[in-house]
Amino acid sequence: MKGKVFIVTGAAMGLGLAAAEELAASGAKLVLVDYNSDALTEAKKHISSSYPDTEVETYVADVSKEEDVKGYVALATSRFGRIDGLYNNAGIEGKQAPLVDYDLEVFKRVVDINLMGVYFAMRHVIPVMQAQNYGRIVNVASVGGIRGVVNQTAYVATKHAVSGMTKNAAIEYGKYGILTNAIAPGAILTPMVAEAFKQVNPDDPKAAETEYAQRNPTRGLGQPKDVAKLVKFLISEENGYVNGQTIAIDGGESNLY
Ligand code: NAD
Repeated sequence: MKGKVFIVTGAAMGLGLAAAEELAASGAKLVLVDYNSDALTEAKKHISSSYPDTEVETYVADVSKEEDVKGYVALATSRFGRIDGLYNNAGIEGKQAPLVDYDLEVFKRVVDINLMGVYFAMRHVIPVMQAQNYGRIVNVASVGGIRGVVNQTAYVATKHAVSGMTKNAAIEYGKYGILTNAIAPGAILTPMVAEAFKQVNPDDPKAAETEYAQRNPTRGLGQPKDVAKLVKFLISEENGYVNGQTIAIDGGESNLY
C-alpha cells in the first residue's frame, strides 16, 4: 500500500474517515473529498497528526456536481500522478417515509448524491485507471442495495443502482486491470446511523439503537473499523480477482427474512 494513491469521498466522518485512517496507516497517499469543509479540515488534521508520514490532500466537493468531481480527480492526478484506488463512499440516507408520501425534493437529492455522485466519480476516474492499466474501485451500496428497507424508498433504489453500476463497470473495464466491487454495510455506528435512530425514536434514540441491534444475528452493530478493513483489501493489490461483487458486511443481517 505504501505510496499508492487513493481517493476517498465522504471522508470527513463515518465510514470514509475510518477507511482513510486505515489507508494512511499503511503509508498510502490520500485525496480526501467531502462537502463539509470544516469537518474535512478536522479529518485532515487528525490523520496528519496520527500518521505524519502520510501525504494528504483535501478537496471540498459536492459529489453530485460533475464539475466538482472533475476537480478532485484533477487534483489527484496533478499532485500524485496516478489513482490506484477510488473509495466511492459519500452518500446520504434521505428522510424516512412510505413510498407515496416521500418528499420529491429529498428523493431527487438522494438520487443526485447516491447514484449520480457514484457514477460521476467512475466516469472520471476510470479513464485515468485505464491509462495505467490498473485500478481498484470500491463503491458503497448497503443492505438496502440487496433488499428493501421500510420507509427508505429513495435510499434503497439508489443503493440497488450502485450495485448494478458496479456490475457494469466490472464487466466493461476488467480488461484494463480495473476491479470494481461494492460493499453492503448493515448498521454501522456512524453519524448517519445515529441520525436514523433519532428519526425512528426522537425521544429515545438509544432505545431504537438497542432494539435494532437485537434484530441482528450478532446482537450488535458494526464499527467503522470493521468496514475499513474490508475496504482496504478490496481497494488494494491484495485483491487480485474479486470483481463485480456486492459484499455484505452486516453481521449476517441480509440473510434474515
Ligand atoms: P455519514 O453521514 O456518517 O458520513 C458521510 C460523509 O459523506 C459525511 O462526511 C458527509 O459530509 C459526506 N457527504 C454526504 N453527501 C456528500 C456530497 N454530496 N458530497 C460530498 N460529501 C458528501 O455516513 P456513513 O454512515 O459514514 O455512510 C457512508 C456511506 O456508507 C454512505 O454511502 C452510506 O449510504 C453507506 N452506508 C452506511 C451504513 C451505516 O450503517 N453507517 C450502512 C450502509 C451503507
